[in-house]
Amino acid sequence: MSLNQVFDKAAEAFKVYKKVAASEKANLLRTIAAEIEQLGDELLQTAHQESNLPLARLTGERGRTVSQLQLFASLADEGTWTEATIDTALPDRQPAPRPDLRRMLVPLGPVVIFGASNFPFAFSTAGGDTASALAAGCPVIYKEHPGHPKTSQLVYKAIQNALQACGLPEAVFQHVSGGADIGQELVKHPEAKAVAFTGSYKGGKAIFDQACQRPQPIPVYAEMGSVNPIFILPEKAEAESKQLAGQAAQSVLLGVGQFCTNPGLIFYPENDTTESFLQELSEKLESAPTNKMLHEGICSNYYKGVNQLLAAGGVEKLLAPDEDVLVGNAALAKVSLEQWLQNEALQEEVFGPFTLVVTYHGLEDLERAAEKLQGQLTCTVWGTTSELIQAGSLADTLREKCGRLLFGGVPTGVEVSYAMTHGGPFPATTDSRSTSVGAYAIKRFARPVTFQSAPAELLPQELQDDNPLSIWRTIDGKLTKDNI
Ligand code: NAP
Repeated sequence: MSLNQVFDKAAEAFKVYKKVAASEKANLLRTIAAEIEQLGDELLQTAHQESNLPLARLTGERGRTVSQLQLFASLADEGTWTEATIDTALPDRQPAPRPDLRRMLVPLGPVVIFGASNFPFAFSTAGGDTASALAAGCPVIYKEHPGHPKTSQLVYKAIQNALQACGLPEAVFQHVSGGADIGQELVKHPEAKAVAFTGSYKGGKAIFDQACQRPQPIPVYAEMGSVNPIFILPEKAEAESKQLAGQAAQSVLLGVGQFCTNPGLIFYPENDTTESFLQELSEKLESAPTNKMLHEGICSNYYKGVNQLLAAGGVEKLLAPDEDVLVGNAALAKVSLEQWLQNEALQEEVFGPFTLVVTYHGLEDLERAAEKLQGQLTCTVWGTTSELIQAGSLADTLREKCGRLLFGGVPTGVEVSYAMTHGGPFPATTDSRSTSVGAYAIKRFARPVTFQSAPAELLPQELQDDNPLSIWRTIDGKLTKDNI
């Protein structure tokens, strides 16, 4: 099928799908979740063979994917996400009457979604992007990730079964294979109304630039990763240096470092615990069991990235990795804050089990580092309660740099919930107003429309006087479930 035919079918499916009741969209998402669970071991084994990810991790990721689908089903069912807002008419207002105004979010139309290599379920075929687009009412044209084509086909069939069982058009979800050239054609197509992407900076930025050059530009929600700095404050460092090294090492090693929230940068004070912290971190990284990376390309990129960074001025190698074709051995380096401030390249993500420790002298140093920092998915501060409060202005600066600010804990492990933000200022993403994880991800695929003085018969259920869906609405500035 040509891409024109794919988009024609998607446009036809949109005419039907946008009118489907919210409860039917919710039912579709729940049916997809059930179909995925029914794939059982075959799905896990296939993903394991294609990605080298351990079965236990894949089992957890499948569970997360199913809960994401259920979360968006609940959101569609509940309906308040549409931001229904009504300003009732004021016919007697002077000097001019106010018309009846009713606003809500409506789906954008067919959207293009790129799967990610490092999450074959949760950020791929039926992952969070697909679930949130379908919940919003958008047909999906999905570009398979070449790293796990068989897994993708299995999930695609599960989605098709669900569409059939729910009596919905099959083109509500279409699956496209191919390389970057096909990806570019998808982004350029006039019928595409938005793009969601998770992957490299190079890929995400190329797609974003292409979308901006279209005669009709469209939003691109590209999540391109970051170095997720951890700032360790002096009192905490003095008191717990060894435990902190252990905690940091675990996070760096998780999933062979193949998480976009992997901490690739750690700020540690120059004091009498610095050496023991570095030694402990190095030992923990070196002694951990080694694992295969997703594929050879990612592995060779990892070692290339580490070697480039180790060759930079002022960088001291603490743990040189034993290079392998597929196994990602951990690496560690150190640099002074002054050297780090002078070299932007030291902020680049090395995708894999690597971290760079930057040593500093005082809180003012940390402020300078925070100012210099590029946009991040996460920033983390580790400190005692009193020094966290004293470092309030550091937190204030970091708030401008990231989508999630942690006080304690590690950035790896992203909760799928209502309050989560998985996004951040460029270059972490191409749209800092959005999140690709959690309930608010649905907003990426919708736009506001205001109906002015519309006949009651033409209003969507969300905006009708008697509130038939019983959703929360803002009427004349007040949040309520009341009728008009
Ligand atoms: P990628 O190279 O960015 O590819 C992701 C998807 O985008 C693939 O489907 C790819 O298609 C497509 N694509 C890439 N460049 C494109 C372009 N110019 N035009 C249109 N489509 C394009 O990411 P990856 O394959 O997952 O891994 C490569 C590197 O990305 C890793 O080594 C790592 O550094 C980084 N990465 C980051 C994250 C993160 O969380 N931010 C996740 C995974 C990987 P083709 O493969 O068919 O070209």
